[in-house]
Amino acid sequence: TAAPEQTDAFWMPFTANRQFKKTPRLLASAEGMYYRSTDGREILDGTGGLWCVNAGHARPRIVQAIQQQAATLDFAPTFQMGHPLPFVLAERLAGIAPAGLDHVFFTNSGSESVDTALKIALAYHRVRGEGQRTRLIGREKGYHGVGFGGIAVGGMVNNRKFFGPMLPGVDHLRHTLDLQRNAFNRGLPKHGVELAEDLERLVQLHDASTIAAVIIEPISGSAGVVLPPEGYLKRIREICDKHGILLIFDEVITGFGRVGQAFAAQRFGVTPDLITTAKGLTNGAVPMGAVFASGKIHDAFMHGPEGAIELFHGYTYSGHPLACAAALATLDTYAEENLFQKAIELGGYWEDAIHALKGLPNVIDIRNFGLIGAVELAARPDAPGSRGYEVFSRAFHEQNLMVRCTGDVIALSPPLILNREHIDRIFDRLAATIRATA
Ligand code: PMP
Repeated sequence: TAAPEQTDAFWMPFTANRQFKKTPRLLASAEGMYYRSTDGREILDGTGGLWCVNAGHARPRIVQAIQQQAATLDFAPTFQMGHPLPFVLAERLAGIAPAGLDHVFFTNSGSESVDTALKIALAYHRVRGEGQRTRLIGREKGYHGVGFGGIAVGGMVNNRKFFGPMLPGVDHLRHTLDLQRNAFNRGLPKHGVELAEDLERLVQLHDASTIAAVIIEPISGSAGVVLPPEGYLKRIREICDKHGILLIFDEVITGFGRVGQAFAAQRFGVTPDLITTAKGLTNGAVPMGAVFASGKIHDAFMHGPEGAIELFHGYTYSGHPLACAAALATLDTYAEENLFQKAIELGGYWEDAIHALKGLPNVIDIRNFGLIGAVELAARPDAPGSRGYEVFSRAFHEQNLMVRCTGDVIALSPPLILNREHIDRIFDRLAATIRATA
């Protein structure tokens, strides 16, 4: 398809919108590790779509599942009558989830999963007669989507700047990035665990009996791949347990194999009460999210006071047939190709390759875990936060490489089907781009 004339009719409400209209970039198709643009270029995908295409693009099995489902049952009005697939899918998901997180609620995006998890947390306390627990705690720099819940608990101040008033009673834990930067460390940061005590500070400030839940990303992707210091997540879990606070892991990015197991919770050995997911659940092919909850939470609703029955939540497209079919085919693909193992098998080679960027112009930090990594560049004094976009633009146009940029950070999260040649190609192209933008 030829690129259509740019028109104002399509409003991309992104920061990049103005730039995008100047230099349109349009994709025509995709397969495996590559996109093809409308001007016929083969573009290597270093970001797995937008952290979601974990099994590579347009996998025939997933495509067929969606096609077949669309022709069989395109929609079911879940508020009146369900269909079998959400039950089948929930069972499958419970089988790969951390032990005990065996109840699943379906949404259509990461943002909806976050709002759903926050609502479940608040209602959980209310159903158990602890309705005064209404405070929510997020983390500075945290990203939890763009719903009102997500921007309130999220720690990206710019994302909520124009949209107040926000949800009341929200606090943010201090972030850990400043302690880690410039270290070029491998693995998890060795220091910074003491920042978990910030949660104790908030508990003392507000009284534990007013706090409903803490939500954090095990690894903050959008903030520039911020890794948890060793022991940090365990300590947060301990403090939550001590005070009856629910712990929510936002695994919209880390879920489905990114760090070597189905979920980061398993890789880090810390089990939250709720997990939010989306993205890799359907390999990016159809929008879908899922919230995992423990039996303790599920049981509170099922056996709690009568009011729990009146609790209303759900989306027109919750458990949509096409999304369920896509998710089941995606899970089959992950299992058959052992893709969750890839971050372990290829992790060493990938990590060597990303760390070889050290010493290139402006590279001030490299952070990586499994197959998720970031290269941080020194801010341009005249235009802080612009380096990432420069690298991304040039990588795309001159090197045929798709990477994600936020501010001065380049983030990478390749499809898990990649091999060593792809890794070499990604980092050759990225190195050339970083040199060219110096
Ligand atoms: N949570 C996290 C951790 C995310 O990274 C994202 C998206 N990048 C979201 C929530 C929101 O997901 P969506 O864009 O599907 O609403």
